[in-house]
Amino acid sequence: MSVAGHHVVVTGGGSGVGSEIARVFAAAGASVTVIGRRAEPLQEVAREIGGFAVTADVTDPASVQSALDAARAKNGPVRIAIANAGAAPSAPFHKITAEAFAATLDVNLGGVFNLWQAALPDMKQARAGRLIAVASTAGLKGYGYVAPYCAAKHGVVGLTRALAVELGPTGITANAICPGFIETPLLDRAIADITAKTGLSAEAAAASMLSGNPQKRFVTTGEVAQTALWLCSDAAAAVNGHALALSGGEV
Ligand code: NAP
Repeated sequence: MSVAGHHVVVTGGGSGVGSEIARVFAAAGASVTVIGRRAEPLQEVAREIGGFAVTADVTDPASVQSALDAARAKNGPVRIAIANAGAAPSAPFHKITAEAFAATLDVNLGGVFNLWQAALPDMKQARAGRLIAVASTAGLKGYGYVAPYCAAKHGVVGLTRALAVELGPTGITANAICPGFIETPLLDRAIADITAKTGLSAEAAAASMLSGNPQKRFVTTGEVAQTALWLCSDAAAAVNGHALALSGGEV
């Protein structure tokens, strides 16, 4: 399968990893819909790539459903659903409220469920498709001070593995990409948080994040986007239920 001419939906497509995925898929000839809560960054990306922008909150199934209805009206049935929206608030475990815990699960795990469930009927009809989640190395190992995020990303890996089994005979694959730290607005917020709470400099905070990565560098948004593109190729047709670490050897 080539992505050319196919409709790909990317949540969190207005910034960071999601915007790079949108650029890479548009350059490969896909019709791209970007989804997020803020209209402005989405429209900027859509203008740049000739794509379609629609606002939705991924934690709300009805909001995701109506966004996909609008996206289908514009670009046709969805062939590739990339659940990339996420957030990584940090706090020591004893300070996390039940509401904050649930909110982090809602966006990082519930958001994947909501997008994939809304997109799946089109793929079943076509007997072809790709479900892709941008999880994290936090879906494969633990990190301190982000317990709800780790729990959610481990959940994304579990959801992916379950769907890979369930959808095996349908021609649809489900995979999770698990990057290490990437330079994006999310990372900037995490570094600002660490510096505010610990008094460490931004350089020291970044160095501590890279300490577990043998390559001692951040993963790039392009590396994540190209991996997603490869998962949509014929070459990756047998890659199903995989949690693919992009972490320079950290995991
Ligand atoms: P980012 O630029 O902050 O992107 C997150 C995106 O998610 C934003 O575009 C945001 O748009 C959207 N979003 C957040 N909550 C949403 C909601 N409720 N409904 C709809 N959209 C929502 O950070 P990023 O690093 O590119 O993150 C993308 C993914 O990569 C996340 O799943 C993250 O966990 C994962 N990841 C990041 C890193 C890293 O170090 N940066 C490492 C591993 C994995 P709006 O605010 O407009 O809604």
